[in-house]
Amino acid sequence: MSIQSNLENIKSTLPENVTLVAVSKTKPVSDLMQAYKGGQRIFGENKIQEMTEKWEQMPKDIQWHMIGHVQTNKVKFMAPFVSLIHGVDSLKLLQEINKQAQKNNRVIDCLLQMHIAEEETKFGLDEKELNDILDFVQNNKDELQNIRVVGLMGMATFTDNQEQIKKEFTHLKTIFDKFQTLNTKNGKLTTLSMGMSGDYKVAIDCGSNMIRVGSSIFGGR
Ligand SMILES: *Cc1c(COP(=O)(O)O)cnc(C)c1O
Repeated sequence: MSIQSNLENIKSTLPENVTLVAVSKTKPVSDLMQAYKGGQRIFGENKIQEMTEKWEQMPKDIQWHMIGHVQTNKVKFMAPFVSLIHGVDSLKLLQEINKQAQKNNRVIDCLLQMHIAEEETKFGLDEKELNDILDFVQNNKDELQNIRVVGLMGMATFTDNQEQIKKEFTHLKTIFDKFQTLNTKNGKLTTLSMGMSGDYKVAIDCGSNMIRVGSSIFGGR
């Protein structure tokens, strides 16, 4: 199967409100260009340097999403062009993104990453931490003018147990719904980024409106 036909097949099954992020990490620009020729304009990368190199080489109407963990000291490299940062999991990082966005005269959209999986990982917020960050965003509109928190992101446990995955996605959707009350210039949750190649159908059933799909488009890594 070609990249273009993989892309077509996936797109033909997606509800209209679901945005497809083509996760192109580790893949060469020639592969990304196949997807571009198939109409894809949103690409997701998990390393800032790799994303920057691809951005330099590729057409400028592409929206670049950072889906990986972000180190504070590297934000400056993507601040000139990144369109959405999925993995924001601390206030410190959000403040650095704001600072670098300001330097570039931009407003950068961010998703807060939630920890929903059973697995122990270092990344992602719990509900209390989310609440604290959203409170801060809301109460410091003047400081945080160059970011917008536009939604949440989460990853389910890596398992074949569909019920487990469903439970975790449903949990994230419940949190997403609960914080719909937030409505400021720099914070309003409209995007729910959940679902990858193996679980995006379940994620959509659970309320996802942004999926991050790599291997089903570009093949294994
Ligand atoms: C790699 C990655 C994906 C895509 O994974 P596939 O299984 O290849 O679809 C999605 N989200 C994140 C955060 C990733 O790192």
